[in-house]
Amino acid sequence: MKILIMGLPGSGKTVQARKIAQELGFCLIKTGEILRELSKIDTKEGKIIKNVLENGELVDDMVVGEIVMNRLQNPDCKNGFVVDGYPRSESQLKNFNPGFDKVIYLDIPENQAIKRLIERGRGDDTKRLITKRLAIQKKELDGLLKYYGSAGNLLEIDATKTIDEVFKDIVDHII
Ligand code: AMP
Repeated sequence: MKILIMGLPGSGKTVQARKIAQELGFCLIKTGEILRELSKIDTKEGKIIKNVLENGELVDDMVVGEIVMNRLQNPDCKNGFVVDGYPRSESQLKNFNPGFDKVIYLDIPENQAIKRLIERGRGDDTKRLITKRLAIQKKELDGLLKYYGSAGNLLEIDATKTIDEVFKDIVDHII
């Protein structure tokens, strides 16, 4: 099974993606984490990625598409995979489409997402960058939701509940 987990930053994507991958024995691909690792490497590409992350913007479509495509070839992904963070936009989907069977959308009001991000306090979770990331990603997310909504494989989950409740809702829908 090929699963995509989507939602605003702060919707709980990472936690739920981990739990789903663990429960089903699937590999987990988290583009944000891969990009944060690449940004620490002292190469031209690493520096470009670092700059994009520090500005709360989106990394180039071709770069991210290639990362995901390569990672999916890994033998640990052969039973299935969960992707957290790709595609972030319709243009990425046009560039490389992993062909998801299930698309899980973790729905959370923007003010709650902001509150969670401030509490989390990751390097790119400053107030200014949170606002910028949310604005950029909300627009792209809306486009993707329309796309997957009409494709008929979108599951909308209330992500304001507890971690265990959200996980139960997801599992009830996908198994
Ligand atoms: P995340 O950990 O999912 O919140 O992602 C952190 C940052 O990584 C984002 O703010 C983007 O700058 C970058 N990023 C993650 N996934 C993508 C993607 N699919 N396309 C472009 N940039 C991405």
